[in-house]
Amino acid sequence: MICFRPAITVAAAGLLALAALPVAAKDKGAHWGYKGAHGPDNWAKLHPKNKLCATGKRQSPFKIAGANQSPDKAGQMRYTATGGMVVNNGHTIQVNLEKGSVLMVDGKAYRLAQFHFHTPSEHHLFGKGFPMEMHLVHVSEDGKLAVVGVMVRAGGNGKHPIDSLPTPAKAGGKAALPGGKLNPESLLPAHRSHFRFEGSLTTPPCSEGVAWHMMITPVRVTTATIKRFQAVMGRNNRPLQAGNSRKISHRR
Ligand SMILES: [Zn+2]
Repeated sequence: MICFRPAITVAAAGLLALAALPVAAKDKGAHWGYKGAHGPDNWAKLHPKNKLCATGKRQSPFKIAGANQSPDKAGQMRYTATGGMVVNNGHTIQVNLEKGSVLMVDGKAYRLAQFHFHTPSEHHLFGKGFPMEMHLVHVSEDGKLAVVGVMVRAGGNGKHPIDSLPTPAKAGGKAALPGGKLNPESLLPAHRSHFRFEGSLTTPPCSEGVAWHMMITPVRVTTATIKRFQAVMGRNNRPLQAGNSRKISHRR
């Protein structure tokens, strides 16, 4: 949805990602996807702006085998219930949220703008992939990005908020949030310990400098929920990228 726009910055990429452009797959020039000629192996060839998809050294996702740095201060999620809109943007099911929730990273505030899903998971944790992965995308005042990643697995009792999220079937489709509001706090696992590392957007233009926070504990939804997301999104996970001895710290 953002590949062929000129002079895109990390900031702009983040904001455009929030814009929930409809019918992205059919927009002129915006032909990146997950298969064949427009698939992940060819993203860099689709536009010079996607160069980092091929040449970056801090790309996401990758295999997270554990921490290799001393433990450090955790990212602080100051989340609150806000309104929002569920959209199918042609690449994922995404929930665009109104202002109100903030992630504090080393004293810097990143506003939670949207969260979205990948099936199956993009990262691997301790050698394992999961059926689904959720990304909560935060943007700072100066356009820097911070993402909180949460693995999603089956075995839930149907009461996780993801179980009630609508999944508009067609690109460009929209739906209201159940109850009109959602507190993103309710999406997270009870255990907040996470790995922190530097990575990239997992979609074109694969911009780096993204502050990643990968939750160690997965959340559980029902098998039917996972199947419902799979049916609408298809396979939308970027393959694993080189870790390149990434510095990873564990935060409690
Ligand atoms: Zn994502």
